[in-house]
Amino acid sequence: MVIDVEQEKREIINRYRKLLRKAKPILKDGDARQIKKAFTMALEAHKDMRRKSGEPYIFHPLAVAQICVEEIGLGTTSIISALLHDVVEDTDIELSDIERMFGKKVTRIIDGLTKVSGVFEFGTSQQAENFRKMLFTLSEDVRVILIKLADRLHNMRTLESMPRNKQLKVASETIYLYAPLAHRLGLNAIKSELEDLYLRFTDRAVYDSIVRNIDDTRASRNKFIKQFVQPIREELDRHKINYEIKGRPKSIFSIWNKMRKQNIPFEEVYDLFAVRIIIDTPLENEKALCWQVYSIVTDFYTPNPDRLRDWISTPKANGYESLHTTVMAKNGQWVEVQIRTKRMDDIAEKGYAAHWKYKETAAAHESNLEKWLIKVRDTLQQNDHSALDFVNDFRGNLFSEEVFVFTPKGELKTLPYGATALDFAFEIHTQVGSKCIGAKVNNKLVPINYILKNGDQIEILTSQKQKPHEDWLRFVVSSKAKSRIKDVLKEDKKKIAEDGKEILLRKLNQMKIDSSQLIIEQMREYFNAPSHLDLYYRIGKGIITVADIKRFKEYKPKSPLKTRPNIRVADAKTIEQEITKIKGRYEDILLIGEDMDVVDYKLAKCCTPIPGDDVFGFVTVNEGIKIHRTTCPNAAELLANHGNRVVKAKWTSQHEVAFLTGLKVRGTDRVGLINDVSKIISEELKVNMSSMSFFTDSGIFEGEIMLYVHDTRHLEQLINKLEQVEGVVKVSRFDSKSLE
Ligand code: MN
Repeated sequence: MVIDVEQEKREIINRYRKLLRKAKPILKDGDARQIKKAFTMALEAHKDMRRKSGEPYIFHPLAVAQICVEEIGLGTTSIISALLHDVVEDTDIELSDIERMFGKKVTRIIDGLTKVSGVFEFGTSQQAENFRKMLFTLSEDVRVILIKLADRLHNMRTLESMPRNKQLKVASETIYLYAPLAHRLGLNAIKSELEDLYLRFTDRAVYDSIVRNIDDTRASRNKFIKQFVQPIREELDRHKINYEIKGRPKSIFSIWNKMRKQNIPFEEVYDLFAVRIIIDTPLENEKALCWQVYSIVTDFYTPNPDRLRDWISTPKANGYESLHTTVMAKNGQWVEVQIRTKRMDDIAEKGYAAHWKYKETAAAHESNLEKWLIKVRDTLQQNDHSALDFVNDFRGNLFSEEVFVFTPKGELKTLPYGATALDFAFEIHTQVGSKCIGAKVNNKLVPINYILKNGDQIEILTSQKQKPHEDWLRFVVSSKAKSRIKDVLKEDKKKIAEDGKEILLRKLNQMKIDSSQLIIEQMREYFNAPSHLDLYYRIGKGIITVADIKRFKEYKPKSPLKTRPNIRVADAKTIEQEITKIKGRYEDILLIGEDMDVVDYKLAKCCTPIPGDDVFGFVTVNEGIKIHRTTCPNAAELLANHGNRVVKAKWTSQHEVAFLTGLKVRGTDRVGLINDVSKIISEELKVNMSSMSFFTDSGIFEGEIMLYVHDTRHLEQLINKLEQVEGVVKVSRFDSKSLE
């Protein structure tokens, strides 16, 4: 490829000017000069670097800065930090250089961004550890996270030029951590785009088909919306209300989610779009006017009382405010209508930074997000569990919606949806949680695992004799309660283990056995304990008795010197070595479908991949390599958290071998139906079934068939044939959620 250097220089300057143009309205005296300084520094530092796509590297920081300004609404400090976000990581420039030129604030942000970047190829929890660090920096300056999200968004937008395995890894991380984070910060537009891009790079065929379907149905949808809003428009005009109405299809990802969850085709997703009425009004009239618009809408269309959501009186914790209702259109179709003001719409789309902008005028609305940041900081400071645990707990809280409850004094507390009385107790104080024996909810006595409902008023009952139990972990959902309980249990376990160790050493002494590390290790193996601590704990608890210890004396390890560590629980280093060993054998790409006996891999039972599916290999420690579909329900978690254990995999073309997969068949029951279905499978198509089960309930039947097919084409053929059987309504492939 011939590079036109002059042309490239012009393009760089063009993009830089575009950035300045967008930033202009927010610039103060001297800002432009600082931005120029940052741009010059970045340009010089990255001058010999190119991105995978072949573009000059500087395009990337420029684009990230552009996203910060245009799509998140950030200011000068963030523009400078975004321009410089990769220089410390990738070039000779050091933090001290940045501090000299741009001061402390910018330096701290870049330091935060540098800590959280890097390639996480080694160690399973490295990724999680980095994520935790990022959240930690968030408590200092939330801009670190916002710029990181802008960085991720641009990387996702340009993912095309990356190799396939990198695409899968980056996309999975995105869906696993970054999209939920964007959601939690209220960055709705960015969240939706990240999700759509995830789908695009993990399941291109499905993505394209949904895009095509949205395009194909556009004209008729617009016509419907126009008719639907016509009477509303007239009435709003008559009341001289300033408004704008949008009818927009939902995101590709959310449509896909509906199709998948309800197992329905595109045509059957009924709420493909929502009608949004955005009104322009001063802050003090907001609430009244939104309800007035609601009343106008429901004058024309009957609302579904179960679907009314008032996030104006109690905004969501991510700052979202809006009034949602679902009404029946004249053609019998349900239509979701969202009513909000311009200010609310801005916050819903741009999130946190939009909050900033309205801070003076809407101080009260700010407080929810502030509260959330304080909570994050809190969680981070008291948590000393494995980073992986932490991320999982934290993610749990990202996804769930909240429940609003009150203390006896009427103070409002926000907890994740599904929180129990015990969560509430830990929310009040660790001591209250640890001593909790029950609660009074709205003056009625309830057990500690009572699930809180919106508006509950809770008084916690405690006893000095109470202490946390193992099964309490099943009763709580908040990360705070979980980690506090784990803390206490860990303390307890340690104490018992200390006692156990003492008992063991005494006993060995009596038996005249030398208490060397080797003996302890053999003992751990003999009793099948995952670790020495567990061995001591079991002895301390009396699970392993003195008599058991005596029996150990007879035990002769086969090769006393080779104390093979129990791999399942070995330390990270051993796992690492094991992985490198297995991966070494398939350095390039694992070819599947050749000879199953020779090559050490298995097809995962959770998603039953067959030739033609897009797949990857995952190195397990006990069972060699497992092949999963990239659309497997477990794929995102595996790829995001254990990227170093992923092996590229590809099917070889062969026709002899058959693969096990599962089909779900649904329809209306009739005599002889099951017979017809199994006849098609085994006689007409000569497919082997491994199992078949049918359930019928008041005329509806549902069957699950496990069978052997050659590839996806073969499977499609089979599905088509089965769908032609009289009574069969739907045939689809199924996954199981449990990871196998
Ligand atoms: Mn970057």
